[in-house]
Amino acid sequence: MGLVVQKYGGSSVADAEGIKRVAKRIVEAKQNGHQVVVVVSAMGDTTDELIDLAEKVSPMPAGREFDMLLTAGERISMALLAMAIKNLGHEAQSFTGSQAGVITDSVHNKARIIDVTPGRIRTALDEGNIAIVAGFQGVSQDKKDITTLGRGGSDTTAVALAAALDAEVCEIYTDVDGVFTADPRVVKKAKKIDWISFEDMLELAASGSKVLLHRCVEYARRYNIPIHVRSSFSGLRGTWVSSEPIEQGDQKVEQAIISGVAHDTSEAKVTVVGVPDKPGEAAAIFRAISDAEINIDMIVQNVSAASTGLTDISFTLPKTEGRKAIDALERNKGGIGFESLRYDDQIGKISLVGAGMKTNPGVTASFFEALSDAGVNIELISTSEIRISVVTRADDVSEAVRAVHSAFGLDSDSDEAVVYGGTGR
Ligand code: ADP
Ligand code: ASP
Ligand code: MG
Repeated sequence: MGLVVQKYGGSSVADAEGIKRVAKRIVEAKQNGHQVVVVVSAMGDTTDELIDLAEKVSPMPAGREFDMLLTAGERISMALLAMAIKNLGHEAQSFTGSQAGVITDSVHNKARIIDVTPGRIRTALDEGNIAIVAGFQGVSQDKKDITTLGRGGSDTTAVALAAALDAEVCEIYTDVDGVFTADPRVVKKAKKIDWISFEDMLELAASGSKVLLHRCVEYARRYNIPIHVRSSFSGLRGTWVSSEPIEQGDQKVEQAIISGVAHDTSEAKVTVVGVPDKPGEAAAIFRAISDAEINIDMIVQNVSAASTGLTDISFTLPKTEGRKAIDALERNKGGIGFESLRYDDQIGKISLVGAGMKTNPGVTASFFEALSDAGVNIELISTSEIRISVVTRADDVSEAVRAVHSAFGLDSDSDEAVVYGGTGR
């Protein structure tokens, strides 16, 4: 029996009962002969509550202090979980990200893992302990400051530890039975996927399916770590995310033409109005944005009006970066030369993902027809080889997701998808 890494999300450890339930599950894995490393998130909505608290104290808190604050959430759950396991008669030790050897760059609030040196975890395991690691955090290589990995970052901690410890599997325990063809909170008839390739999962995650974080899937693909996404509330088999299809019975699970529909309402749209239509303008805008360490998603440039020679450039970015982006552009207004800025945070994005898109030319047309039949207006479009995304009004998103899901025949005709916990925040 090898080593397993199990990650429990916030909704799985939302209260004392949840922590005790999860502790039992962890002990079972240990009793089955595995070495067990557990990555745990903050309890319930603790991280959101800490963010709300920080905002009351300061509208733009310094990254270093903000990270220090947020990592407190995972410290609470790791210590409580270790206590609950000891109470069941098993040895457990908890470790912060820094103690577990999670080394990152120094970009606060969204640091990247650059190395994992899990010496203390190995020792703890060799001494017969279950090792509990606080997710979502690390320590910066240069300044030795505490960092966080961005929202949902415990998924990445889990896969990074699984890779560094050469684990058999990384199990991600959450509040739904696996990865579904759409968010079960929005589409009751969403179907559980038995197996999905890293490529399709990467696109779903990048498009907002927060059941797995994009960076975590990227990491798993790079190190070829199979992920098993499943519920901590049921004993059901979940979704395998891996490079090769799994076997079921004596058959390989087929790659679906369409894997699913993702949506995202966490982005906003910035429009730079009245930009001179000449070389170098887009470069100047996006240099200012990238110097502020802001990642953007979609970009559209409108046709310039012949009479003025001016054009508009719109792009989308996380709402949490909105203020920073506007400040950065205003600061560089003279150099870039635009008329004004517009900020719209009432947008949503809907994406259809599937490797089969490459070879089925009708997919794009059917996608737009489904949106049009649902009366949804499209504001921006972007595509990749295996994904098509549109931006719409935020209010239209749920309706649009359901319409596209039905149009592609993804609705389940049997059970409704179960959501066991969580507030969906
Ligand atoms: P955790 O606290 O365990 O990390 P998250 O809230 O981050 O849980 O992720 C689980 C949630 O992801 C589910 O409750 C569900 O609402 C949402 N979700 C979005 N898209 C999907 C999808 N395609 N399949 C399953 N869950 C999804
Ligand atoms: N607690 C962090 C968050 O809510 C990290 C995580 O749950 O993965 O984003
Ligand atoms: Mg999560």
